[in-house]
Amino acid sequence: MSRYDIAIIGTGPAGVSAALTAKNRNKSILIIGKKELSNKVLKSHKILNYPGLPDIAGEDLVAAMRKHLDSMGIEITEEQVTNVYAMGDYFALQCAKEMYEASTVIIASGVMQGKPLPGEEANLGRGVSYCATCDAALYKGKETTVLGYSRKEEEEASFLAELTDKVYYVPTYQEDPEFSPDNIEVIRGIPKEIRREDNKSVLVLDSREVVSDVVFVLRDSVSPGQLVPGLETEGAHIKTARDMSTNIPGLFAAGDITGTPYQDAKSVGEGNVAALTAVSYLTELAKKQK
Ligand SMILES: Cc1cc2nc3c(=O)[nH]c(=O)nc-3n(C[C@H](O)[C@H](O)[C@H](O)COP(=O)(O)OP(=O)(O)OC[C@H]3O[C@@H](n4cnc5c(N)ncnc54)[C@H](O)[C@@H]3O)c2cc1C
Repeated sequence: MSRYDIAIIGTGPAGVSAALTAKNRNKSILIIGKKELSNKVLKSHKILNYPGLPDIAGEDLVAAMRKHLDSMGIEITEEQVTNVYAMGDYFALQCAKEMYEASTVIIASGVMQGKPLPGEEANLGRGVSYCATCDAALYKGKETTVLGYSRKEEEEASFLAELTDKVYYVPTYQEDPEFSPDNIEVIRGIPKEIRREDNKSVLVLDSREVVSDVVFVLRDSVSPGQLVPGLETEGAHIKTARDMSTNIPGLFAAGDITGTPYQDAKSVGEGNVAALTAVSYLTELAKKQK
């Protein structure tokens, strides 16, 4: 397995900025996220305070960032990182489809929308999962629940329906989900809690309770404490120093994930600083390894 100099988690303004700077400094990079970069930027109607681009629509800023990445030959790996493990002088990144290695990591994953549900984190790995691709095989022939935070999770639910007996699909969005498998039942309701009872997982909605063997909570981002064991956090944010370093050597963070204000320009600036600090860290690491 090849080891990258810098792995960047997230393709919003912070991740893109970190990738451009790291590439400029001639480092091998892995940037993991989405080809459409950032939902938040896409949803921004007009951005009035981005220097040099007055009154730019979010989708135009995304298009400009994509063009910039393409012009520097930076390719996005479309994956979701579920765990990052510090292995001493490198990191292992567990993704839905593959595992990657990098000497340093920059977390630019944006801030998680909403808090985890009561019982969600406590039962993770015991009837709650964040990754259908990783854990589906454990539930062959069983009943599963998918809490889907966006339409792209419908594909994950269809995949689970191939392996498992039944999928209860609870969308948190307005649009009507579209499924062909007939063992998927769509249930509407506002999620309140997840609890374990008699070896089953119970998703409590405002309308009813859904009982199955596991609840897959599928949203775009994972809370930072869950992503990296031992990472120092403050609520939904990662604690960083001014150079964007965290309490784990070689691990940096940038953008909304480090705290308010949630702004494009702040995210871009922090992505730049994180990449330059990662470059200095790599230089020191190389000296130590000589
Ligand atoms: C409607 C709206 C309007 C706004 N208007 C403005 C404005 O006018 N001016 C301004 O400055 N700011 C504005 N903002 C805020 C701005 O969009 C954010 O501050 C900015 O997008 C944060 O950038 P980021 O890179 O930190 O995170 P994000 O843009 O949130 O990007 C993070 C990316 O990481 C991905 N990701 C998360 N977890 C993982 C994982 N585990 N594995 C792989 N990928 C992952 C996410 O899917 C996402 O693509 C607005 C936001 C909204 C929602």
